[in-house]
Amino acid sequence: MLVPETTDGTILSVVIPMYNEAAVIPALVTRLRPVLDALGADYEVVAVDDGSRDATVAVLFDHGRNWPQLRVIRLRRNSGHQAALTAGLHRAHGRWVVSLDADLQDPPETIAEMLRVAREDGVDVVYGVRADRSTDTFFKRRTAHTYYRLMRRLVGTDVPAQAGDFRLVSRDVIETLRRLPERTPVYRLLIPALGFASAEVRYVREARAAGETKYPLHRMVALAWDSVANFSAAPLRLATWLGAISFLACVGLIGFGIVAHLRGVTIPGWTSMFVAVLLLGGVQLVCLGLLGEYVGRIYATVQGRPTYHVGADSAETELSASFADAPTGSGRG
Ligand code: UDP
Ligand code: MG
Repeated sequence: MLVPETTDGTILSVVIPMYNEAAVIPALVTRLRPVLDALGADYEVVAVDDGSRDATVAVLFDHGRNWPQLRVIRLRRNSGHQAALTAGLHRAHGRWVVSLDADLQDPPETIAEMLRVAREDGVDVVYGVRADRSTDTFFKRRTAHTYYRLMRRLVGTDVPAQAGDFRLVSRDVIETLRRLPERTPVYRLLIPALGFASAEVRYVREARAAGETKYPLHRMVALAWDSVANFSAAPLRLATWLGAISFLACVGLIGFGIVAHLRGVTIPGWTSMFVAVLLLGGVQLVCLGLLGEYVGRIYATVQGRPTYHVGADSAETELSASFADAPTGSGRG
């Protein structure tokens, strides 16, 4: 595999963004710790406190006293789930990195299976796919369904449906992510777009163990908008289409104006005003659309995503092993 060795020998990092999760931490520790201790590998838990206003940090430090593998990263202010995730992923030391929600909706026991699948299948990404979300509200299920359908159309079918932010990635993926200058990453779309070999592990989404959701409607809308804007210049192209349509309508209406003029049913000056207004409006929209096209390209350049993904190169001898253990199929389990 292409993964560079980590400096401190940590095999697994578990990154957990937390915003006002004091109520759930004891239950989380009780379930997560036995799973990780049983792995028989060096691990760290990276709890990212996303500017919580409750006792999250105090409770974390309390547990950290007799759990040396628990590491706490404190953000100065609330920056949002994906930003907190970014902080954790960028700072994790592990050879493998799992991201997990604090609320036990993603069962920690699945982590062991993800690690096994990643090692056995030789893949860089293992998605946790929700096989059953009956514990979520009807509204959450409907909005999620629509979101994943839209995103698969925008980004491509590489995006596994119903895969949120519970996933395991290799060091190679982390290093690729660290090099991206993207400011508002939406990992559930960005990681599939990077094209690493992947597999899926199914799990049943549980109910929140304690506390309440930190994703009210306005945050869901913000995530959806980030997802669209990160992966599509379609909104920019709207002006081009509107311009083209009004331009075509204008051509028809010019004919109508001239006929009306010839039949003498217009007041003087109407025809020229009518045609000029339509034509200028259309031309302006087309020009805006053109600008949009270039802005879209500048945006894509600034995002700095790789345009190709080298899996292996036989000229680099230390990589030769990766041809041997390259997955034969698509890697999707
Ligand atoms: N979260 C965060 N910052 C925020 C909002 C949420 O770090 O501003 C964390 C939260 O503590 C949890 C995860 O993101 O660990 C997912 O949030 P939640 O479970 O409330 O979302 P839901 O499952 O309801 O969509
Ligand atoms: Mg949750």
